[in-house]
Amino acid sequence: MSKRNPIEDLAHLRHEFGEHGGVNMSIEASTTFTVMDPETMPEMFAGRKGPDKGCYLYGRHFNPTVHNLGRQLAAMEGTEAAYCTASGMAAISGAVLGVCESGDEIVASNAIYGGSYALLHDFLPAKTGIKTTFVDITDLDAVAEAVTDKTRLLLTESVSNPTLRVANIPALAQIAHGKDARLMVDNTFSPLILRPAELGADIVVHSITKFISGSSDVIAGAVCGTEEFIGGLMDLHMGPLMLLGPTMDPGIASSVSLRIPHLPLRMAEHGKRAFELSKRLDALGLTVTYPGLENHPDHELFNTLRSAEYGYGGVFTIDVADAETANDLMSRLQNEQRFGYLAVSLGYFDTLMSCSGSSTSSELSEEEQESAGISPGLVRVSAGYTGTLEQRWAQLLAALNDTGIVDAYRTAENEIRSA
Ligand code: PLP
Repeated sequence: MSKRNPIEDLAHLRHEFGEHGGVNMSIEASTTFTVMDPETMPEMFAGRKGPDKGCYLYGRHFNPTVHNLGRQLAAMEGTEAAYCTASGMAAISGAVLGVCESGDEIVASNAIYGGSYALLHDFLPAKTGIKTTFVDITDLDAVAEAVTDKTRLLLTESVSNPTLRVANIPALAQIAHGKDARLMVDNTFSPLILRPAELGADIVVHSITKFISGSSDVIAGAVCGTEEFIGGLMDLHMGPLMLLGPTMDPGIASSVSLRIPHLPLRMAEHGKRAFELSKRLDALGLTVTYPGLENHPDHELFNTLRSAEYGYGGVFTIDVADAETANDLMSRLQNEQRFGYLAVSLGYFDTLMSCSGSSTSSELSEEEQESAGISPGLVRVSAGYTGTLEQRWAQLLAALNDTGIVDAYRTAENEIRSA
C-alpha cells in the first residue's frame, strides 16, 4: 500500500505561520467573528460562505485553529475534509447520527471499544430507534448475511480493541456499497499504519486521545470524510455536530497540531517495542496476540493493507487465563517493577496495562465477551517507548517470574538465545 509519508503531504498546512510570524500557527481564541459587510452574515448562515472562503461565524461551527487541525487530519487520512471533536465518542456518535435516521440499521463488529458498543447496543436503540446487529467482522459471509436493505452503516475498528483482529477494509467496503450502506472505520489503533479511506472506507473516525495525542493529557476526536458528509454534520438545522455541540477547543487543536509532526516517529517506535516484546513473550510459550506475529490470524491480511514503515501497532495482549493472575501481574509490573501503569487508554509514551474484560470492555456481558474473544485474563498492553527495550524486558520477565506465570529467567535465556 501507500509508501509515502502522509504527514509530509500536510507540511504546508502546518506552515500556516503565527500572527507575528511565529513558526507555529496562532491559537484563535475568539468564539465570534466580525464581518466587514453585513451582507456576508446571511451568506454564512445559508452555508454559501464558510471557512474555505476564510469566513468564520461562531466557534461551535468553525474555528480557524480547529479547522486547520481538521485539514491536517483529512490530509493524513486522505479524505476531502475532517472535523475535530471534543472526544472520540463525540466523533463516533456524531458520524453515526450523520448517516442514520430513526428506523435505520447498523451492522457492527462484535469486538469494539466498550463505549462504542454501549452506544450502539443500549443508547441508540432506546433514544433513536437505530438498531445494530453485531457480527464477527472477520467472517465476511456473516457480515454479508447481516447487511440488509435497511442497513445504512457498516462499522468496524481497523484493529479491534482489545482483540487486535484486523478488518478486511476493501472486502467490507464492497459488502457495504453493494447494499447502499456506508463503511465507517475507527482507526484509533492504527493511525498512519492504515489509511482506511484509501482502502474503500467512506468515513474514518479517531479517538485523538490515544496515539495521535501521545501524552494522555488530551481528550479529543475527529471525523474524516467527504466535504458533503462533513458539511452535513455542521448543518444548522440537522447537523449532529453543530446541534449537539461537541466541538474541539482551539487550545487543544493547537496542542494536538504540534504533535502531528512526530506521530510517524512515535508510531514506528511504539510498533518496534510492541513487536519485540510480543516476539519474546511468544518464544516463552505465553498466549500473546500481536498482528506482527506470524501466528496472528490476520498477519498476512495486515501485510497487504498496511504502510510497513509504521509497523504493526503499539498494542499487544497477553492472556494469563484468569482475572486474579492478570491483576497480580499488572500490579507487580506497576508497583514493583515500574514497567508501566495500571491504567486504561493507550498510545501514551509510557506503557499502559489494563484487564479489558473488567474495564474497557465491561459494557459487554460475559457471553458477549466470550464470543468477541475477550477472556477474563486478557491483559491489554499499550507499549510505551521510555527506558530501553532491555530494561523493560527485564522488568517484564521479573514480574512474570514472580507471579509464577512462567519461570521466566530460566526459560528466557534458552529461548531468546535460540530465537
Ligand atoms: N475508539 C476506540 C477504539 C477507543 O479505544 C476509544 C477509547 O478508549 C474510543 C473510540 C473513545 O475515545 P474517547 O475516549 O476519546 O472518547
